[in-house]
Amino acid sequence: MSGNDAAKTGKIEVWWDMKDCPIPEGYDAGRVRPSIERAFKERGYTGPVSITAYADQTQTPCHVLRGLSSTGVAVAHTRSGSTCSVMYRDMVEWRGQNPPPATIMIISDQVQGDLSLDLARLQQRDRYGLFLAYSTKRCNDFLLVYFANCRWRQLLLEEGEGAPLVASGGLSSSSAVMFYCKSCNFDCQSLKKFRKHLSSYKHGMEEAIKPPDTKLLSATKTWARNYPATPEHATANIHVLWDMNDCPIPEGYDARRVRPSIERAFKEIGYSGPISITAYADQKQTPLHHLLSLSSTGVDFAHTLPWVHYSRMISDFERWSSVNPAPASILIISDEVASSKYRSKIICRSLQKNNYNCFLAYSVRPFEMPLLVTSAEWLWDSLLAVSETRRHTLEKCSESERVVASTGGMFCCKLCLCDCKSLDDFNKHLSSKEHTKEENRITTHSQSFPRRHREFKISKYHDEEGYPPKTKRMRKAPRKGFLPRPLRFTNV
Ligand SMILES: [Zn+2]
Ligand SMILES: [Zn+2]
Repeated sequence: MSGNDAAKTGKIEVWWDMKDCPIPEGYDAGRVRPSIERAFKERGYTGPVSITAYADQTQTPCHVLRGLSSTGVAVAHTRSGSTCSVMYRDMVEWRGQNPPPATIMIISDQVQGDLSLDLARLQQRDRYGLFLAYSTKRCNDFLLVYFANCRWRQLLLEEGEGAPLVASGGLSSSSAVMFYCKSCNFDCQSLKKFRKHLSSYKHGMEEAIKPPDTKLLSATKTWARNYPATPEHATANIHVLWDMNDCPIPEGYDARRVRPSIERAFKEIGYSGPISITAYADQKQTPLHHLLSLSSTGVDFAHTLPWVHYSRMISDFERWSSVNPAPASILIISDEVASSKYRSKIICRSLQKNNYNCFLAYSVRPFEMPLLVTSAEWLWDSLLAVSETRRHTLEKCSESERVVASTGGMFCCKLCLCDCKSLDDFNKHLSSKEHTKEENRITTHSQSFPRRHREFKISKYHDEEGYPPKTKRMRKAPRKGFLPRPLRFTNV
C-alpha cells in the first residue's frame, strides 16, 4: 500500500494501561520508553513516539512517576475500573485530531469484545497502523488487523545491552502537558503539583461525587449508514456478491430488472463505475427463466451447496480483492453476511487493510450493529423497486454494462471449480457424472462434520481432563460376564 511508507515515519501514539501491564518488579521506569521505541524501530517505524500511562496514580510509587515523566511519558490518573474506557475515549478523540497516516499502539489486556469490535469499525474508515501489547489476555477474536501483538514483559525485556536510558525523540514532548487527572480534567507539568492535586480535598470530592467512566462508549454506534460517494470511489469498479438464498427474486418480478436496479441505486448515490454481479445459489434450483433473464443482463452465476455457500462467497471475495486494488467497491447482498460477525470477519479484515467501499443489502435489517462499515445499505425489496419508476433509462445503462460483465466466465461451478461459457454447458455440467460425484463427496463430508466435530471435542476434553474414570469400564464389565477386579481401584 502506498500509505505504508508515510505511516512508517508518521507519529506513533501509545496508550498504556499500567494496571493490566505493570512495570515489572525492579525494572527501571525510565527504560519503558526506550524499550517501546526500540520495538517500533526494529519493525521499521521511525516516527516520534508519544506515550501516555493510565492508572490510579495514587497507587504508583513516586520514583516510578519520576522515571516515566523524566523520559517524556505522560501520566494520566484514572479511577480503577475506568482506565480502559477513558483510554479508549482519549484514543477516539486523538484519531479525530490526527488523521492517518499514523500509528497507534494499545497496551492492555482488554482489547476484546465491544472494544475490538468498535476499533475494527473505526479502522475500516480511518486506517492507522495498529500495534498491540498484552500481559495475560491476548486479543484473539480475529476482528482486528494489526502489525504486531507482543507480550508486554517480552517487549520490555527484549531490550539489548547498552540501551539508551533517555529517550531519543521523546523529550520533544517535555514542553507539553505531562500529568493529567482524568477525574477532574486537571493537568499540570510538574510532578509535585500533580501529587498535590491527587491528595487535595477538591480531587477527593470530585471522585466521590462523579460516577467513574466504567462503560466503554462506542464511537461508531451512531454512524450513519449512508455516506456520499468519495471522489476516488465514484468511478471505481463495483463488485456484487449476491446470495440468492437470503435475497431471492420475488415472485412475479422480472429478473432482467435486477441489474438495472442495482445500477440505478448506485447512480443515485454518486457511483458510476462498472458493476460485476455474481449470484450464488444451488443453481439447480433456480428456474430456467431466471437463469436466462439474469445472464442476458450480464449477471454471473456461481453454483454452490448450502454447506459451502458462504465459504465459497467469502473465498471469491478474497480472490477478487487480490486482483482488484483499491479504490474499488463491494456490495454484499446477504442477510447472513450482513448480520453474522463470523461470516463478515474476513471482509472486515480486508476493509481494514484496503481502501474499499463496502455496501450491504439484506431482506431483513440486522438486529445488531454490523461489523462491516458501509457507505450505504438497502433493503433488498426496496433496492429491487428502484428500477420500477425509471424503467426507461435503466435499460439503456444496463446495455453498456453488459459488455463489461460478460467478458468473464458467466457460469461457474464452485464445487468442481469449473467455468462454463454458456448456460447449456453449465446445465450439462451440473447434470454430469463428475459433478454429481463431487456434490455427493462434499455433501457426505459436510454432513459428517457434526460427528467429527464432536469427536474432536471429546478428544480435546480427554487431553485436558483425562480419560473416563474406571467406574465406566466397570459398568461395562459385568455385561461381558466378568466381575470388576478390585485391583483396578488402586490405579486411580
Ligand atoms: Zn483530580
Ligand atoms: Zn460441478
